[in-house]
Amino acid sequence: MELYDVTVVGGGPVGLFGATMAGLHGMRVKMIESLPELGGQLYTLYPEKPIYDVAGFPSILAKDLAAALVTQMMRFTPTVCMEESVLAVNEAQGEGGSEFILTTSKGTHRTRTVLIAAGLGSFVPRKIPALNADKFEDKGLHYLVPALTHFAGRQVAVIGGGDTAVDWTLAVAPYARAVHLIHRRDQFRAHEDSLRQLRDADNISVYTFTEVKEIVGQERVEAVRLVDTDKDTEVMLPVDAVIGGLGFVPNLGPVKTWGLNLKGSSIEVSLASMETNRQGFYAVGDVATYDGKVKLIATGFGEVGIAIARIRSYLHPDLKGLPHSTNVKSLKN
Ligand SMILES: Cc1cc2nc3c(=O)[nH]c(=O)nc-3n(C[C@H](O)[C@H](O)[C@H](O)COP(=O)(O)OP(=O)(O)OC[C@H]3O[C@@H](n4cnc5c(N)ncnc54)[C@H](O)[C@@H]3O)c2cc1C
Repeated sequence: MELYDVTVVGGGPVGLFGATMAGLHGMRVKMIESLPELGGQLYTLYPEKPIYDVAGFPSILAKDLAAALVTQMMRFTPTVCMEESVLAVNEAQGEGGSEFILTTSKGTHRTRTVLIAAGLGSFVPRKIPALNADKFEDKGLHYLVPALTHFAGRQVAVIGGGDTAVDWTLAVAPYARAVHLIHRRDQFRAHEDSLRQLRDADNISVYTFTEVKEIVGQERVEAVRLVDTDKDTEVMLPVDAVIGGLGFVPNLGPVKTWGLNLKGSSIEVSLASMETNRQGFYAVGDVATYDGKVKLIATGFGEVGIAIARIRSYLHPDLKGLPHSTNVKSLKN
């Protein structure tokens, strides 16, 4: 079994960039991702979301950013293992010194260091507490938003009052005939500019103090039964699609058992090195935490620079820091 210099756990944007930087600096890299596609939470949940705060891109769709990061990484021909979850890590003594054996859902892997970029871990959408909700999953009820064109000309109900629900309402509105945003309170936890866009849109109706009691239909969603909890009245609203926008429950799962210092669902690291309490283990992106942490793709990219510099020094104690990419001899155009 081949020994890798660094194994990246998680193929989200930060893990992808981690594998690129490690490859660029001459390390033998393996990536292990539990989902069938690379790109992480944003790509999986909402591939058509425009992102405005990645340096160098005035606006880029999540799916295009993921594709560009994969192309960038593949220049360095890492070994990529898909649909494989890292479950356990154990230390071992190899011929060249200490190493780690990663046990996954499919087998074992040898590595000298581990770069954890597991994000929120596995993320499970919060289900809508309405009658018949399970029956209509993927039959008109969506928790992950498919291509927005799917909603062309349709009547869509979006459930929730946070960023997820408001973002999806605004994204679907240009395609749909009408969008009904349904929220059980009258306060929204969303950006002020998004709320202004909600008010300005012609085809968006907002229902406050309203709960979805039942999803109704034969084979597919045909309507939702709404209860106005303020007035204690009920109405049947005909819709073709329902989007559950109640957010996601993060679950770090197996990562919690790896002997790392945790703060909630995040791994504590030193900002100076991105190293965890376990030697040879580094964490970056949403899964890593320290005082003042901001969970953004841009932050994760910066953390990768620090982590890869430290991993390089760990593997080759005579080497310090990171040279600029223009000084990396192995790099071809
Ligand atoms: C709706 C929404 C909108 C957002 N908008 C923005 C925005 O505009 N700008 C911005 O900067 N950020 C935004 N974010 C946040 C951004 O998505 C995250 O900061 C970013 O995805 C973090 O990247 P990551 O690589 O650290 O983790 P993730 O993207 O979460 O990727 C982690 C990957 O690790 C995998 N994994 C987890 N555990 C294991 C395991 N044990 N074995 C193998 N694989 C594993 C997961 O399957 C996943 O693919 C948004 C997030 C959401 C949900």
